Amino acid sequence: MKDLLPPGVGIQGERGIAFVIAGPSGAGKSSVISALLSRDPKLSFSVSATTRPRRPDEVHGRDYYFVSEDEFDRLIAEGALLEWTVYQGHRYGTPKTEVLARLEKGLDVVLNVEVRGARAIRAANLGFPVVLVFLVPPSWEELVARVRRRGTESEEALAERLRIAREELQHIPEFDYLVVNDSLEEAVARVEAIIKAERMKIVRCA
Ligand code: ADP
Ligand code: 5GP
Repeated sequence: MKDLLPPGVGIQGERGIAFVIAGPSGAGKSSVISALLSRDPKLSFSVSATTRPRRPDEVHGRDYYFVSEDEFDRLIAEGALLEWTVYQGHRYGTPKTEVLARLEKGLDVVLNVEVRGARAIRAANLGFPVVLVFLVPPSWEELVARVRRRGTESEEALAERLRIAREELQHIPEFDYLVVNDSLEEAVARVEAIIKAERMKIVRCA
């Protein structure tokens, strides 16, 4: 195909793309991402570091790097994080090694971050395309039901997550795509459609 293109023109999918999936707690970010990863070998997950305690079904190195407060301080001091934030009293950050090396190799990277993190990744000007996807459940009622059903939060923590969720929804206009997670299968197919289209985007290269 390349021999057909005029000089200085290519498609975005020839290089790595960062797909950032944000959205309120309970939107289904982890569920959607895990399905995407199992279906697309060109995608790899950016595993964040966090000081939050591990949930029973989470695996260190797959879902998060669960680190102590001291270890997180060290990551910041070493400049090892692309961005980091405080969410519900715990720190979460994106290790540079999870993102840049893979993009340089031509792999696409999927990130699960909150709204400020999404903004920071775009602002970091990585030299690679960054696509911001906002995932929402079909209704507020369903969002509350899903976080409750997941059973990982105390009542107090749940109320705080819902307060943050309300605030996060105000930032939808900063995103490129809005995906509704009504049926998980359809939500995954919608994000896959975005990924396919972004890979076919025509770009001018130097
Ligand atoms: P997030 O990572 O955005 O906080 P999760 O992926 O942990 O959300 O999903 C929250 C809860 O909702 C989990 O218990 C998950 O199994 C469930 N869930 C996710 N997507 C759907 C869906 N489309 N329909 C019903 N339940 C869902
Ligand atoms: P949870 O505790 O539910 O796994 O995550 C809480 C919030 O932190 C979610 O909105 C998730 O997207 C966000 N998050 C996870 N990792 C990172 C990260 O590395 N950076 C930022 N900014 N947010 C993150």
